[in-house]
Amino acid sequence: MNSVIHNLQHIQQAISVCCQQTHRQPNTVKLLAVSKTKPLEMIQTAYNAGQRAFGENYVQEAIEKIQQSQSLFNQNTEHSETLSSTPHMPIEWHLIGPLQSNKTKIVAEHFDWVQSVDRVKIAQRLNDQRPANMQNLNVCIQVNISQEANKSGATLEQAYELAAKIHKMPNLTLRGIMAIPTNTTDESILNALFNRLHTLYNELKATYATVDTLSMGMSQDMQTAIKNGSTMVRIGSAIFGQRQS
Ligand SMILES: *Cc1c(COP(=O)(O)O)cnc(C)c1O
Repeated sequence: MNSVIHNLQHIQQAISVCCQQTHRQPNTVKLLAVSKTKPLEMIQTAYNAGQRAFGENYVQEAIEKIQQSQSLFNQNTEHSETLSSTPHMPIEWHLIGPLQSNKTKIVAEHFDWVQSVDRVKIAQRLNDQRPANMQNLNVCIQVNISQEANKSGATLEQAYELAAKIHKMPNLTLRGIMAIPTNTTDESILNALFNRLHTLYNELKATYATVDTLSMGMSQDMQTAIKNGSTMVRIGSAIFGQRQS
């Protein structure tokens, strides 16, 4: 079997095992397949196997893939070896990489989600540039939980203010928060960081009815993230293989 399909099955299995262990329903954790730097053929393979949500980091690369996928992908997956019952669902593109203000327009015109919003200026531009004939753009606030100076993301304090402002923007829907923790294999550090994010998520969820997404967990720390309440894991290398750069 194709390795992408095999890896997808493996990850879905790992998510459901982890959910069972933590007494959660398996469908409460969504899988985002992170396809940055990987060719469209791999995305198509995953798509034909039932995967619908894809994450990209680099705007230009992503726009090309989005445009090509629109003409290329066969929406009718009847004859393929489909894993799940998703053929009727449309593909969903998430921007998870840093976003500069000169790229907001093209992003507002092509993406379904932006998970890397970390300041009001970017949110405002996305809101103003979202085409009227498209559904609201789903937005997560990227939180720099480790408070690392070299990392993008809002601080915890900024996250509350930003949430209040995004909530008032008519063309954006505030869905939750996204975080990339410190690169560490120390389980206790990870647990502490994820736990703080979960607390922030619960606070925002209690305030804003549209909040339903705690996006944390990548190939290396997926289990720890799910144990700490993640509702969306962003998996790249464990599905598509190691990246060159
Ligand atoms: C690349 C990336 C991922 C996926 O990382 P893997 O370790 O390949 O699973 C997830 N989230 C963000 C923000 C990324 O940039």
